[in-house]
Amino acid sequence: MRDFDDSPEPPGELAGSADGRHRFLVQRHRATRLHFDLRFEVDGALVSWAVPKGPSLDPQRKSLAMKVEDHPYAYGWFEGIIPSGYGKGDVVLWDDGWWDHDPEYPDQVDAAEAIAAGEFKFVLIGRKLRGRYVIVKTSRPAGKGRSSGEEWLLIHKKDQYAIAGWNPEDYPQSVLSNRTNEDVAEGRPGRWKAATEDELAELDHIKTKGDWTVDGITQQITNLDKALIPGRNGEPPITKRELIAYYATVAPWMTTTLAGRPINLNRFPDGIEGAKGGFFHKSVPAHAPAWVRRWPNPNAGKGETREYLMLDGAPSLVWAANFAGFEIHPWTSTCASPDEPSYALVDIDPGENTAWDDTLVLARLFRVAMDKLGLVARPKVSGQRGIQIWIPVKAGYSFRQTSDFVEALSKTVGGVVPDLVSWKWKKNARRGLARLDYTQNQVNKTLVAPYSVRPRPGAPVSVPLEWDELDDPDLRPDRWTIRDVFHRLDEIGNSFDALVGVQQTLPEL
Ligand code: MN
Repeated sequence: MRDFDDSPEPPGELAGSADGRHRFLVQRHRATRLHFDLRFEVDGALVSWAVPKGPSLDPQRKSLAMKVEDHPYAYGWFEGIIPSGYGKGDVVLWDDGWWDHDPEYPDQVDAAEAIAAGEFKFVLIGRKLRGRYVIVKTSRPAGKGRSSGEEWLLIHKKDQYAIAGWNPEDYPQSVLSNRTNEDVAEGRPGRWKAATEDELAELDHIKTKGDWTVDGITQQITNLDKALIPGRNGEPPITKRELIAYYATVAPWMTTTLAGRPINLNRFPDGIEGAKGGFFHKSVPAHAPAWVRRWPNPNAGKGETREYLMLDGAPSLVWAANFAGFEIHPWTSTCASPDEPSYALVDIDPGENTAWDDTLVLARLFRVAMDKLGLVARPKVSGQRGIQIWIPVKAGYSFRQTSDFVEALSKTVGGVVPDLVSWKWKKNARRGLARLDYTQNQVNKTLVAPYSVRPRPGAPVSVPLEWDELDDPDLRPDRWTIRDVFHRLDEIGNSFDALVGVQQTLPEL
């Protein structure tokens, strides 16, 4: 068989998916009974089995696998709570990666045919599952006393990835968010691993470029002493090394708002004062290593980005920072439901004549509105001049609905202080007044992520707040930078943790 090294390249270009490769996805699903949903991308759908004890690397294990109906492609990325009906329970994305035909059986070239014939031989290259497998239909008839589905057996071959005694239950965490099913059920925030003290010390010792290992993944980082952002107030400039160290450290706090979402990256390869300025990078560059997680947008139209970057932990944040992609904009929706926003977003966008106190007046009016409406929400400072408010919503809303809600809410708030707000969209018609920009509630319109660096002197970051901090006379929209935000996180944690798992109905306005 082909030799896949530790950070493998996908096994060649295969026909099928948007990016020419076939994915597999495994969800750990606590429904009436715990099972693992093993799903293969075949002809654009997910051919699926429910494996009660889970797939393994142990060749001695013959895992019962019940064939279930094909699922739509997007569903494979789902992680969260199924509130009712068939499958009621909690789901984490337990593994994903590529599948290929087993090269030792060159005659088997069509997966759909092999599955129809009752024996499918394949190779997996996942985060957890690796190596050669066969899934084979048993001769036992369906029916009496047992499930009505078809019974199959999933077996790992004896190869260099086989590990005797390997039990999937020893590795229960999500590959997207690092959560367990219990975390999902309890609404506990996910936490990616941060770089350790030792790893950070190693980063300090790398000269201008070298290999660095964070959270088990080694990558080459380059131009470490290049200044990308000037300092402020006479402080030294921010180098790429410092940005990399920042993202490797802040990673756990970014989990809840990045995991499972496509990302638009704002890149500044020549620094924020460079001739090119910044530009948005949506697609994953060809040179990206195989372990960088990609999401093929099934709804991409002609000329649109087809394969988006997903950030899934400290290594991928480091990879992005090394690529000078340090302003991070996650989608408002997840890969599992790209047309359904998870938040309604209020964007208080100050004009040239908007004083900070005016911005605060507007934010406090939204606070009153959230209180009156009984909605859980939190503000965050943008790291530049504005304040944004994130309102978590239950599954099933369209962007049209969240946009209509935020429009009505914003017009109500703006109506209280008409002298502060303009409803003109052209900047030069706004007379320097603030805009309450409800138009951000659209697919692939994004607001900056919490704890993302902003391209301003001093590298300020966007920071979630508690509502009462709007009354703090020391509050500023760019108060925290990559050099001091950790004091705040140590003291009060992440205010957006309060939004995790909140499923709200938006009231009529
Ligand atoms: Mn299931």
